[in-house]
Amino acid sequence: MPVVREKTNWCGWGWESMRYDFRGHRDYFLRWIGERLGVDALGTRIPPVAPGSIELPAIRLGPSDLAELGAIAGGDGALFTDPRTRLLHAAGRSLPDLLRLRRGEVPTAPDAVVLPADEAAVIAVMRLCRQRDWAVVPFGGGSSVVGGVDASDPSGRPVVTLDTTRLDRMTAFRPEDQCATFQAGIYGPDLEASLAVRGWELGHVPQSFEFSTLGGWIAARSSGQQSNQYGDIADLLVSCRIVTPEGVIATWDGPVSAAGPDLNQTLAGSEGTFGVITEATVRIHPKPAMHQIQAVLFPSFAEGTAALAAIVAAGLRMSYMRLSDEVETETYLKMSGPKLVQDAGLSALRLLGYRDRRCVALVGTEGEPDTVEREVSEAIAIAKKHRGLSLGASPAKNWHRDRYLHPYMRDDLLDAGIATETHETAVPWSRVAAVREDVRQSIEAAAAAQGRRAHVFAHLSHSYPTGTCIYFVLMYAVDAADPVGQWRPIKAAICDAVVRHGGTISHHHGVGLDHKPWLIHEKGATGLRLIAGARRAVDPTGICNPGKLIDL
Ligand SMILES: Cc1cc2nc3c(=O)[nH]c(=O)nc-3n(C[C@H](O)[C@H](O)[C@H](O)COP(=O)(O)OP(=O)(O)OC[C@H]3O[C@@H](n4cnc5c(N)ncnc54)[C@H](O)[C@@H]3O)c2cc1C
Repeated sequence: MPVVREKTNWCGWGWESMRYDFRGHRDYFLRWIGERLGVDALGTRIPPVAPGSIELPAIRLGPSDLAELGAIAGGDGALFTDPRTRLLHAAGRSLPDLLRLRRGEVPTAPDAVVLPADEAAVIAVMRLCRQRDWAVVPFGGGSSVVGGVDASDPSGRPVVTLDTTRLDRMTAFRPEDQCATFQAGIYGPDLEASLAVRGWELGHVPQSFEFSTLGGWIAARSSGQQSNQYGDIADLLVSCRIVTPEGVIATWDGPVSAAGPDLNQTLAGSEGTFGVITEATVRIHPKPAMHQIQAVLFPSFAEGTAALAAIVAAGLRMSYMRLSDEVETETYLKMSGPKLVQDAGLSALRLLGYRDRRCVALVGTEGEPDTVEREVSEAIAIAKKHRGLSLGASPAKNWHRDRYLHPYMRDDLLDAGIATETHETAVPWSRVAAVREDVRQSIEAAAAAQGRRAHVFAHLSHSYPTGTCIYFVLMYAVDAADPVGQWRPIKAAICDAVVRHGGTISHHHGVGLDHKPWLIHEKGATGLRLIAGARRAVDPTGICNPGKLIDL
């Protein structure tokens, strides 16, 4: 039984035993990034504290409370109060989460972690928490990067974290309706495996795929790497069941409805503040016969951006479409080491006019071979009109091979005293250039105010006819004395710059604790009141994931 996955990294990404594979170029890359940041990354080693040395906050529930909670949650194996389980459920996987955990700072942890095995047990836990006024924090894979699963309650109530990962089965497979129903705690690989044996797939693959769940995707309005072709999780959602403190809501299970506001779209993105999603029906499709991804080099980010917009406008649903800016392009080259062939190739490209502002794009799709061949060729033809140079399939193969490995690098870099933060937004195509520049400058200024340099890069992914997602990555040397205090103004500078340009505070990571102060820019005061009112209707005492997304 996959109860609380053993061997996951308590203060980093993924499996404890797994590390990013630099393919022998770790030292080369650390030296390079250290030089960019003006620090000796290669000579720095700041390991995390030993987890056994961490003192967790005292448990505030008494023995009889815990016995009652354990019994209604499902008896044996349904309630945990041991330090490791509490530690694994204390926080998500944002940069400040990791900075705190690595130093052994765990200001809040669940008083108890419950793992109900069915919806009836979720209902019973919710009822007891409502009666006793305990907070309930829904927890899927715990991969939130916005403080979404923080085991805290601003009003100081005891916190019960409700881990959904025993709700891990497919409950209906309906190929004739192109959909399947799953319990909400199923992890990405298990969900796809149960469809793959039947020749079908969902095709929702966030980078966190291996360590995130269907319920977490819906609650945080996740977007997968193939969203251009299949849509974001909210597009794939057909219906769901949610246990709220005021009862269960089962949304209508059909293709489309004009019967008032859409409940699915209200629950998607509710981030655990309306209750616990226990089950969801999602749109599926037959497993594609093949996929093909090609790399294209553009002489500038502006030309690459125009090409991506034109590909979308032509109605080509490229499942993979990602444009790295010039700094990301260079950074990825440096990660792959000092290759002579590569250097020779770059010199040749310089002669062709692809100089230091060159940007790599990946363009590809999946489906029936004829369609794939035709659509990829059409996309490449459009790219060529924007001075794109086809580089063939091999750079894309490397990216595809390593796409779930990259997050592990964050831990290697933290060991070397380098923080990696990410932030994503979406803007209309016409604002891409301005927001990219402003965010970069704002980060550099915030870092400079702390006497630091920042290495900032970005890529475009998840494209729509009206605009695109811009995903920023920034690296800077950690201030060992106060890493979270150092992070805060940098994060604020990014968020301020994003909303200055009318960007959403999140295209797919969600709001949680970290983005909450900026939500008003998108929703407005009346909009926020509408959401708070909806929350109050199902959770009048605000026990569900308090402090996140929206206050009552
Ligand atoms: C390395 C890394 C890469 C990532 N890449 C992507 C990406 O490509 N695309 C993307 O969209 N996101 C990405 N994320 C963010 C994160 O993985 C997503 O937000 C994901 O949807 C969270 O799923 P989870 O199961 O881990 O949910 P959790 O982190 O456990 O929870 C997320 C939120 O949903 C709530 N919640 C969880 N389960 C339920 C439930 N059953 N009912 C009600 N509320 C619930 C929680 O309370 C919390 O507010 C990434 C994160 C990391 C660390």
